[in-house]
Amino acid sequence: MTTPVVRCRVAPSPSGFLHIGTAKAALYNWLFARSHGGTFILRLEDTDAERTDEQYVHAMCEGFKWLGIEWDEGPEFGDEPEKGEYGPYRQSQRRDLYSREAARLVAEGKAYRCYCTKEELDAQRELAAKEKRPPRYSGKCRNLTEEEIAVKGDAPFAIRFRVPEGETLIDDIIQGPVRIKNKEYDDFIIVKSNGDAIFHLAVVVDDGLMKITHVIRGDDHLTNAGRHVMLFNALGYPLPQFAHHPLIHDEQGRKYSKRLHGANVLDWREDGYLPETMINYISLLGWTSEEEGKEFYTLEELKQLFTLKRLTKSPARFDRKKLDWLNGQHIRMLTVEGLCDRVLPLLRNAGFAVDEKPREWLIEMAAICQEKIPTLNQIVPYTDFFFVTPEGYDEKGERKFFRKENSLKALETALQCMNGLSEWTVESLKASYEQAAQEKELKIGALVNGTRLALTGKTVGPGLYELAKLLGREESIGRMQVAIEYVKTSGEESS
Ligand code: GLU
Repeated sequence: MTTPVVRCRVAPSPSGFLHIGTAKAALYNWLFARSHGGTFILRLEDTDAERTDEQYVHAMCEGFKWLGIEWDEGPEFGDEPEKGEYGPYRQSQRRDLYSREAARLVAEGKAYRCYCTKEELDAQRELAAKEKRPPRYSGKCRNLTEEEIAVKGDAPFAIRFRVPEGETLIDDIIQGPVRIKNKEYDDFIIVKSNGDAIFHLAVVVDDGLMKITHVIRGDDHLTNAGRHVMLFNALGYPLPQFAHHPLIHDEQGRKYSKRLHGANVLDWREDGYLPETMINYISLLGWTSEEEGKEFYTLEELKQLFTLKRLTKSPARFDRKKLDWLNGQHIRMLTVEGLCDRVLPLLRNAGFAVDEKPREWLIEMAAICQEKIPTLNQIVPYTDFFFVTPEGYDEKGERKFFRKENSLKALETALQCMNGLSEWTVESLKASYEQAAQEKELKIGALVNGTRLALTGKTVGPGLYELAKLLGREESIGRMQVAIEYVKTSGEESS
C-alpha cells in the first residue's frame, strides 16, 4: 500500500482579520505539509454572506502572505489566479457539490427530508427548556413513507442526517481516542430549508472531495468532530487524521479575544515585529521540539523539525516577554542589508530624508542598531538624530551628564579629543577618549554619556563611537559646541 500524500488545509471564515489562533492552525498545517513534502490548501468558509466581506478576505490573505504562509492550492487573491485541481476553494462557490452529496445521502437512506416547521421545532425546544432537559429532535420525519412525502408536494424541507446506532471514535493525534455514543446526537440538519448547507456538511464534503489527509485545527472543533466522522463514513470518504490543538490564551489565561491588540496578526507588523519572529513564536504556542529548552528557530529549522507527535494538549499562554526576546534574536539574524531594507520604509514614513544618504551609509546605520533594537519600529528613535538636529536634551540625562561637577570638563575634553583626531574613525575616537579619560582623571562614562547626550539629545542609542563616526566630524563638533554653550549659559550646576 502506498502512503497517501499529505494534504492539509486551513479553512478560515473571512469574517474579520487574520486572528492569531487561525494563524496558528494555518502554520501547523503548513509546517506539517512542508515537512512531509505535502500540499497546503487555503479554503475560504465564506458561506455566511452577511459576515463575509471582500475586505476581510483581503486582510486575512494579506496576513498569511506577510507571515510567508504560501498556499499551494487556494482561491484567487489579488493578481494571483485560483490554484489547484480541487476547486473552487471558496465554499460560496461549492453549493452544487453540497446539494449533490446531500441528495446522495438521501437516496442512500442516510439522510432524510424533514418538513417540520420552525414553529414546531421552536415549540419542542421550549418544552424541553421548561422540562429542563436538553432539546432533541422528535424524530417526526425520520421514517416518512414515500406516500407521506408525496402528500407534502412542494412544501419546503430541510435535510437531516440519520445518525446511525453505535459509537463514533475520533482518533485524535493530540487528544488521544475520543469515543462518543451516537445516542448523544440527535438527527442533525445538514441542509437548511433554503437550500444552504450547514457547516458540518460543507466542511466534510470539502475535506472529502479535496482529499484532505490531516485535519489540524483548534480544539473548539472537537465537539464537531464526532458529527464529521459520521458524515465522512456515510459519504464513503476516507477518514482524515484529526489533530485538535488547544487555543491560544492571553497573558491573563483567557481565550485570546478578538478585541485585544495583537489578536490581528497584522498588529504585530504594525508594531515592528518580524514575520520570522511570529512564525517562531506561534509555532511554540503548542509545539515543542525534541531539543529541550531551545526556543529560537528559523523557518528552515521548523520545516525540518515540525511533527504532530510533539503538539501539546494544554493551552498555550501568550508571553509578550518571550516574543520580544525572540524578535530581538531574529533581528540579529538578518543580514545588515536585509535589516536596512526592512527599516528604510519606516524611516521614510517618519519623514526622514533617507534617500539623500548613500546606500553604504544606510547599511552602516542599520548595522550599528542591529544589536540594540527590540523591534523594527525602534529604528526611528534610535536614528532620528542623524536626520534631525536634536532640539533639546533628555531631562534626566541632562541632570546626570550636563549638570554634575565634572560635566563641563568632560564635554570640553570630548571636544578636544574630536578636534585633535587626524582621522575620523571608530578606533581613533575610542583610543582618544580612553587616553583623555586617564590623563584628565575623568570616568570614561562621563565622556561617553555626555557626548551621547550632546550628539543625540538622548541617553540610549547605538554605540557612541559608531554613531559619532557616522554623524561625521563637522556635525559632531558643531553639536558639541552647541551643548557646551548650553551648559555654560543655562541652569545651575548641581552636585
Ligand atoms: N471555519 C472554521 C474556523 O474558522 C474552520 C473549520 C475547520 O477547520 O474544520 O474555525
